[in-house]
Amino acid sequence: MSSTNLDSAMRMRTVRTVSELRAALEPARRDGLTIGLVPTMGALHEGHLSLIRTAHEQCDRVVVSLFVNPVQFNERTDLERYPRRERRDTDLAAAAGADLLFAPSVEEVYPRGFATAVEVFGLTERLEGEARGAEHFRGVATVVTKLLCMAMPDVAYFGQKDAQQVVVIRRLAEDLNLPVRIAALPTVREHDGLAMSSRNSLLSPAERARALALPAALRAAGDLAATGERSSGALLAAARGELSRSGVEAEYVALVNPDTLEPLESLAGEALLAIAARVGAVRLIDNTVLSAQPTGEDPQQPKREAITLCSV
Ligand code: AMP
Repeated sequence: MSSTNLDSAMRMRTVRTVSELRAALEPARRDGLTIGLVPTMGALHEGHLSLIRTAHEQCDRVVVSLFVNPVQFNERTDLERYPRRERRDTDLAAAAGADLLFAPSVEEVYPRGFATAVEVFGLTERLEGEARGAEHFRGVATVVTKLLCMAMPDVAYFGQKDAQQVVVIRRLAEDLNLPVRIAALPTVREHDGLAMSSRNSLLSPAERARALALPAALRAAGDLAATGERSSGALLAAARGELSRSGVEAEYVALVNPDTLEPLESLAGEALLAIAARVGAVRLIDNTVLSAQPTGEDPQQPKREAITLCSV
Protein backbone atom coordinates (compact mmCIF):
# COMPACT_ATOMS: atom_id res chain seq x y z
CA MET A 1 0.00 0.00 0.00
CA SER A 2 1.30 3.50 -0.78
CA SER A 3 1.52 5.99 2.09
CA THR A 4 -1.54 7.84 0.70
CA ASN A 5 -3.53 4.61 0.74
CA LEU A 6 -2.27 3.85 4.21
CA ASP A 7 -3.44 7.29 5.44
CA SER A 8 -6.88 6.86 3.92
CA ALA A 9 -7.18 3.29 5.25
CA MET A 10 -6.37 4.61 8.71
CA ARG A 11 -9.04 7.30 8.37
CA MET A 12 -11.67 4.79 7.29
CA ARG A 13 -13.35 2.64 9.93
CA THR A 14 -15.00 -0.73 9.41
CA VAL A 15 -18.18 -1.39 11.39
CA ARG A 16 -20.20 -4.59 11.42
CA THR A 17 -23.38 -3.85 13.33
CA VAL A 18 -26.26 -1.45 12.76
CA SER A 19 -25.74 0.15 16.16
CA GLU A 20 -22.04 0.77 15.41
CA LEU A 21 -23.00 2.23 12.02
CA ARG A 22 -25.58 4.58 13.56
CA ALA A 23 -23.18 5.63 16.33
CA ALA A 24 -20.41 6.31 13.81
CA LEU A 25 -22.73 8.48 11.70
CA GLU A 26 -24.34 10.30 14.61
CA PRO A 27 -21.79 13.18 14.88
CA ALA A 28 -22.04 13.90 11.13
CA ARG A 29 -25.82 13.85 11.28
CA ARG A 30 -25.86 16.12 14.34
CA ASP A 31 -23.60 18.60 12.52
CA GLY A 32 -25.94 18.61 9.52
CA LEU A 33 -23.36 17.02 7.21
CA THR A 34 -24.53 15.12 4.13
CA ILE A 35 -24.14 11.36 4.01
CA GLY A 36 -23.71 9.30 0.84
CA LEU A 37 -24.22 5.53 0.73
CA VAL A 38 -22.70 3.20 -1.86
CA PRO A 39 -24.18 -0.30 -1.52
CA THR A 40 -21.94 -3.06 -2.91
CA MET A 41 -21.45 -6.81 -2.73
CA GLY A 42 -17.67 -6.32 -2.65
CA ALA A 43 -14.94 -7.55 -5.01
CA LEU A 44 -14.63 -3.87 -5.81
CA HIS A 45 -13.57 -2.68 -9.26
CA GLU A 46 -13.45 0.66 -11.05
CA GLY A 47 -17.26 0.64 -11.46
CA HIS A 48 -17.74 0.60 -7.69
CA LEU A 49 -14.86 3.03 -7.18
CA SER A 50 -16.41 5.57 -9.55
CA LEU A 51 -19.53 5.52 -7.34
CA ILE A 52 -17.42 5.99 -4.19
CA ARG A 53 -15.39 8.82 -5.75
CA THR A 54 -18.53 10.62 -6.87
CA ALA A 55 -20.11 10.17 -3.44
CA HIS A 56 -16.91 11.60 -1.92
CA GLU A 57 -17.11 14.63 -4.22
CA GLN A 58 -20.80 15.24 -3.52
CA CYS A 59 -21.23 14.30 0.16
CA ASP A 60 -19.49 15.18 3.43
CA ARG A 61 -19.36 11.56 4.62
CA VAL A 62 -19.36 8.36 2.54
CA VAL A 63 -20.48 4.95 3.75
CA VAL A 64 -19.71 1.93 1.58
CA SER A 65 -21.65 -1.20 2.43
CA LEU A 66 -20.16 -4.58 1.65
CA PHE A 67 -22.67 -7.38 1.89
CA VAL A 68 -23.14 -10.39 -0.36
CA ASN A 69 -26.90 -10.61 -0.01
CA PRO A 70 -27.79 -14.32 -0.06
CA VAL A 71 -31.51 -13.82 -0.67
CA GLN A 72 -31.04 -12.18 -4.07
CA PHE A 73 -29.13 -15.15 -5.51
CA ASN A 74 -31.38 -17.58 -7.30
CA GLU A 75 -28.52 -20.04 -7.93
CA ARG A 76 -26.64 -21.55 -5.02
CA THR A 77 -23.44 -22.00 -7.06
CA ASP A 78 -23.51 -18.32 -8.11
CA LEU A 79 -23.62 -17.33 -4.41
CA GLU A 80 -20.89 -19.80 -3.48
CA ARG A 81 -18.62 -18.72 -6.34
CA TYR A 82 -19.19 -15.00 -5.76
CA PRO A 83 -15.72 -13.45 -5.15
CA ARG A 84 -15.03 -12.23 -1.58
CA ARG A 85 -12.03 -9.96 -0.97
CA GLU A 86 -12.68 -7.84 2.08
CA ARG A 87 -9.08 -6.84 2.85
CA ARG A 88 -8.47 -5.62 -0.67
CA ASP A 89 -11.91 -3.96 -0.77
CA THR A 90 -11.13 -2.10 2.47
CA ASP A 91 -8.00 -0.54 0.95
CA LEU A 92 -9.71 0.31 -2.34
CA ALA A 93 -12.78 1.87 -0.70
CA ALA A 94 -10.61 3.95 1.63
CA ALA A 95 -8.40 5.18 -1.20
CA ALA A 96 -11.50 6.16 -3.23
CA GLY A 97 -12.77 8.35 -0.38
CA ALA A 98 -14.97 6.17 1.84
CA ASP A 99 -15.14 7.20 5.50
CA LEU A 100 -16.90 4.12 6.79
CA LEU A 101 -17.12 0.54 5.58
CA PHE A 102 -20.24 -1.27 6.76
CA ALA A 103 -19.61 -5.01 6.45
CA PRO A 104 -22.36 -6.78 8.39
CA SER A 105 -22.77 -10.52 8.82
CA VAL A 106 -25.76 -12.33 7.32
CA GLU A 107 -27.13 -12.72 10.89
CA GLU A 108 -26.89 -8.96 11.46
CA VAL A 109 -28.94 -8.20 8.35
CA TYR A 110 -31.35 -11.14 8.68
CA PRO A 111 -31.53 -11.96 12.39
CA ARG A 112 -33.47 -14.96 13.65
CA GLY A 113 -37.17 -14.32 13.21
CA PHE A 114 -36.74 -11.93 10.26
CA ALA A 115 -40.07 -12.06 8.39
CA THR A 116 -40.41 -9.01 6.14
CA ALA A 117 -39.87 -8.51 2.42
CA VAL A 118 -40.13 -5.51 0.12
CA GLU A 119 -41.68 -6.28 -3.24
CA VAL A 120 -41.96 -3.88 -6.15
CA PHE A 121 -44.63 -5.12 -8.54
CA GLY A 122 -44.68 -4.83 -12.32
CA LEU A 123 -41.18 -3.44 -12.88
CA THR A 124 -39.59 -6.56 -11.41
CA GLU A 125 -41.50 -9.05 -13.55
CA ARG A 126 -39.52 -8.49 -16.75
CA LEU A 127 -35.88 -8.87 -17.82
CA GLU A 128 -33.81 -9.85 -14.74
CA GLY A 129 -36.98 -10.65 -12.77
CA GLU A 130 -38.20 -13.00 -15.46
CA ALA A 131 -34.79 -14.61 -15.95
CA ARG A 132 -33.82 -14.92 -12.27
CA GLY A 133 -37.22 -15.34 -10.61
CA ALA A 134 -39.23 -13.09 -8.29
CA GLU A 135 -36.89 -13.76 -5.37
CA HIS A 136 -34.07 -11.83 -7.04
CA PHE A 137 -35.65 -8.38 -6.93
CA ARG A 138 -37.48 -9.18 -3.70
CA GLY A 139 -34.02 -9.80 -2.23
CA VAL A 140 -32.55 -6.65 -3.80
CA ALA A 141 -35.49 -4.43 -2.78
CA THR A 142 -35.48 -5.80 0.76
CA VAL A 143 -31.75 -5.40 1.34
CA VAL A 144 -31.55 -1.95 -0.26
CA THR A 145 -34.53 -0.75 1.82
CA LYS A 146 -32.83 -2.11 4.92
CA LEU A 147 -29.49 -0.47 4.05
CA LEU A 148 -31.26 2.86 3.44
CA CYS A 149 -33.02 2.57 6.82
CA MET A 150 -29.78 1.56 8.56
CA ALA A 151 -27.56 4.34 7.16
CA MET A 152 -30.27 6.95 6.44
CA PRO A 153 -28.14 8.60 3.72
CA ASP A 154 -29.04 11.80 1.89
CA VAL A 155 -27.93 10.23 -1.40
CA ALA A 156 -27.51 6.57 -2.41
CA TYR A 157 -25.36 5.77 -5.44
CA PHE A 158 -26.04 3.00 -7.96
CA GLY A 159 -24.59 2.00 -11.34
CA GLN A 160 -26.49 2.23 -14.61
CA LYS A 161 -24.89 -1.15 -15.38
CA ASP A 162 -27.80 -2.60 -13.39
CA ALA A 163 -30.35 -0.38 -15.15
CA GLN A 164 -33.44 -2.30 -14.03
CA GLN A 165 -32.20 -2.24 -10.43
CA VAL A 166 -32.02 1.58 -10.58
CA VAL A 167 -35.60 1.78 -11.89
CA VAL A 168 -36.81 -0.58 -9.15
CA ILE A 169 -34.96 1.26 -6.36
CA ARG A 170 -36.22 4.67 -7.52
CA ARG A 171 -39.76 3.25 -7.44
CA LEU A 172 -39.44 1.80 -3.95
CA ALA A 173 -37.81 4.96 -2.54
CA GLU A 174 -40.67 7.03 -3.92
CA ASP A 175 -43.41 4.58 -2.93
CA LEU A 176 -42.10 4.20 0.64
CA ASN A 177 -41.43 7.97 1.01
CA LEU A 178 -37.79 7.30 1.83
CA PRO A 179 -36.02 10.65 2.25
CA VAL A 180 -33.11 9.83 -0.07
CA ARG A 181 -31.98 10.86 -3.53
CA ILE A 182 -31.15 7.91 -5.79
CA ALA A 183 -28.19 8.76 -8.03
CA ALA A 184 -27.38 6.57 -11.07
CA LEU A 185 -23.89 6.78 -12.57
CA PRO A 186 -22.62 5.58 -15.97
CA THR A 187 -21.30 2.06 -16.55
CA VAL A 188 -17.52 1.85 -16.30
CA ARG A 189 -15.96 -0.35 -18.96
CA GLU A 190 -12.64 -2.09 -19.54
CA HIS A 191 -10.46 -0.60 -22.28
CA ASP A 192 -12.03 -3.00 -24.80
CA GLY A 193 -15.62 -2.22 -23.86
CA LEU A 194 -16.49 -5.07 -21.49
CA ALA A 195 -18.60 -3.69 -18.65
CA MET A 196 -16.73 -4.09 -15.37
CA SER A 197 -18.27 -6.73 -13.14
CA SER A 198 -17.13 -8.70 -10.12
CA ARG A 199 -18.05 -11.81 -12.12
CA ASN A 200 -15.51 -10.99 -14.88
CA SER A 201 -12.79 -12.51 -12.69
CA LEU A 202 -14.55 -15.88 -13.06
CA LEU A 203 -14.08 -15.88 -16.86
CA SER A 204 -11.30 -17.95 -18.43
CA PRO A 205 -9.14 -16.05 -20.97
CA ALA A 206 -11.14 -17.60 -23.85
CA GLU A 207 -14.45 -16.72 -22.19
CA ARG A 208 -13.19 -13.20 -21.46
CA ALA A 209 -12.61 -12.77 -25.22
CA ARG A 210 -16.08 -14.14 -26.07
CA ALA A 211 -17.69 -11.84 -23.48
CA LEU A 212 -16.83 -8.93 -25.77
CA ALA A 213 -19.85 -10.05 -27.78
CA LEU A 214 -22.04 -8.21 -25.25
CA PRO A 215 -20.70 -4.68 -25.87
CA ALA A 216 -20.38 -5.59 -29.57
CA ALA A 217 -24.08 -6.48 -29.64
CA LEU A 218 -25.02 -3.17 -28.01
CA ARG A 219 -22.81 -1.33 -30.49
CA ALA A 220 -24.26 -3.19 -33.48
CA ALA A 221 -27.80 -2.16 -32.48
CA GLY A 222 -26.61 1.40 -31.76
CA ASP A 223 -24.90 1.65 -35.16
CA LEU A 224 -28.05 0.40 -36.87
CA ALA A 225 -30.21 2.91 -34.96
CA ALA A 226 -27.82 5.66 -36.05
CA THR A 227 -28.56 4.79 -39.69
CA GLY A 228 -32.26 5.50 -39.02
CA GLU A 229 -33.49 1.97 -38.32
CA ARG A 230 -36.40 2.21 -35.86
CA SER A 231 -37.88 -1.30 -35.86
CA SER A 232 -37.33 -3.08 -32.57
CA GLY A 233 -37.16 -6.43 -34.41
CA ALA A 234 -34.32 -5.27 -36.67
CA LEU A 235 -32.36 -3.68 -33.81
CA LEU A 236 -32.71 -6.76 -31.63
CA ALA A 237 -31.73 -9.02 -34.54
CA ALA A 238 -28.53 -7.00 -35.01
CA ALA A 239 -27.67 -7.43 -31.33
CA ARG A 240 -28.54 -11.14 -31.29
CA GLY A 241 -26.47 -11.66 -34.44
CA GLU A 242 -23.33 -10.41 -32.64
CA LEU A 243 -23.96 -12.72 -29.69
CA SER A 244 -24.53 -15.82 -31.77
CA ARG A 245 -21.51 -15.03 -33.98
CA SER A 246 -19.39 -15.47 -30.84
CA GLY A 247 -21.33 -18.50 -29.63
CA VAL A 248 -22.67 -16.57 -26.64
CA GLU A 249 -26.00 -17.81 -25.37
CA ALA A 250 -28.44 -14.93 -24.84
CA GLU A 251 -30.90 -15.19 -21.95
CA TYR A 252 -32.68 -12.11 -23.18
CA VAL A 253 -32.09 -9.21 -25.54
CA ALA A 254 -34.79 -6.58 -25.07
CA LEU A 255 -35.65 -3.06 -26.14
CA VAL A 256 -37.78 -1.42 -23.46
CA ASN A 257 -39.01 1.92 -22.22
CA PRO A 258 -36.25 3.10 -19.83
CA ASP A 259 -38.73 4.21 -17.14
CA THR A 260 -41.51 1.62 -17.30
CA LEU A 261 -39.44 -1.26 -18.79
CA GLU A 262 -42.37 -2.02 -21.13
CA PRO A 263 -41.24 -3.70 -24.38
CA LEU A 264 -41.08 -1.36 -27.38
CA GLU A 265 -42.19 -2.15 -30.92
CA SER A 266 -40.06 0.63 -32.32
CA LEU A 267 -37.50 3.20 -31.29
CA ALA A 268 -38.93 6.64 -30.58
CA GLY A 269 -37.20 8.92 -28.09
CA GLU A 270 -34.98 6.91 -25.78
CA ALA A 271 -35.01 3.16 -25.27
CA LEU A 272 -33.08 0.83 -23.02
CA LEU A 273 -31.41 -2.03 -24.85
CA ALA A 274 -30.68 -4.69 -22.22
CA ILE A 275 -28.82 -7.99 -22.58
CA ALA A 276 -28.26 -10.95 -20.28
CA ALA A 277 -26.09 -13.77 -21.56
CA ARG A 278 -24.11 -16.76 -20.39
CA VAL A 279 -20.47 -17.01 -21.26
CA GLY A 280 -19.51 -20.47 -20.10
CA ALA A 281 -20.87 -20.72 -16.56
CA VAL A 282 -20.76 -16.96 -15.98
CA ARG A 283 -23.89 -14.87 -16.35
CA LEU A 284 -23.25 -11.32 -17.57
CA ILE A 285 -25.55 -8.35 -18.12
CA ASP A 286 -25.04 -5.12 -20.03
CA ASN A 287 -27.16 -2.35 -21.47
CA THR A 288 -27.13 0.90 -23.34
CA VAL A 289 -29.59 3.65 -24.15
CA LEU A 290 -30.52 3.98 -27.81
CA SER A 291 -31.80 7.31 -28.94
CA ALA A 292 -33.97 8.32 -31.88
CA GLN A 293 -33.35 12.03 -31.85
CA PRO A 294 -35.77 14.37 -33.59
CA THR A 295 -34.03 16.06 -36.55
CA GLY A 296 -31.68 18.84 -35.49
CA GLU A 297 -30.43 17.08 -32.34
CA ASP A 298 -27.10 15.32 -32.18
CA PRO A 299 -27.72 11.53 -32.18
CA GLN A 300 -24.40 11.04 -30.38
CA GLN A 301 -25.69 12.97 -27.37
CA PRO A 302 -28.64 11.08 -25.85
CA LYS A 303 -29.92 12.45 -22.56
CA ARG A 304 -29.08 9.19 -20.80
CA GLU A 305 -25.97 7.08 -21.01
CA ALA A 306 -25.24 5.42 -24.34
CA ILE A 307 -22.48 2.88 -24.81
CA THR A 308 -18.97 4.26 -24.95
CA LEU A 309 -16.31 1.70 -25.49
CA CYS A 310 -13.36 3.47 -23.88
CA SER A 311 -14.73 5.01 -20.74
CA VAL A 312 -12.05 3.99 -18.24
P1 AMP B 1 -22.59 -5.06 -6.97
O1 AMP B 1 -21.42 -5.14 -6.06
O2 AMP B 1 -22.44 -5.85 -8.21
O3 AMP B 1 -23.90 -5.27 -6.25
O4 AMP B 1 -22.63 -3.55 -7.46
C1 AMP B 1 -22.70 -2.49 -6.54
C2 AMP B 1 -23.02 -1.23 -7.29
O5 AMP B 1 -22.01 -0.99 -8.26
C3 AMP B 1 -24.35 -1.34 -8.06
O6 AMP B 1 -25.04 -0.11 -7.96
C4 AMP B 1 -23.89 -1.60 -9.47
O7 AMP B 1 -24.80 -1.15 -10.45
C5 AMP B 1 -22.61 -0.79 -9.52
N1 AMP B 1 -21.74 -1.27 -10.60
C6 AMP B 1 -21.36 -2.56 -10.83
N2 AMP B 1 -20.60 -2.62 -11.96
C7 AMP B 1 -20.53 -1.36 -12.43
C8 AMP B 1 -19.88 -0.77 -13.55
N3 AMP B 1 -19.18 -1.49 -14.43
N4 AMP B 1 -20.00 0.56 -13.73
C9 AMP B 1 -20.72 1.32 -12.85
N5 AMP B 1 -21.33 0.83 -11.77
C10 AMP B 1 -21.24 -0.50 -11.56
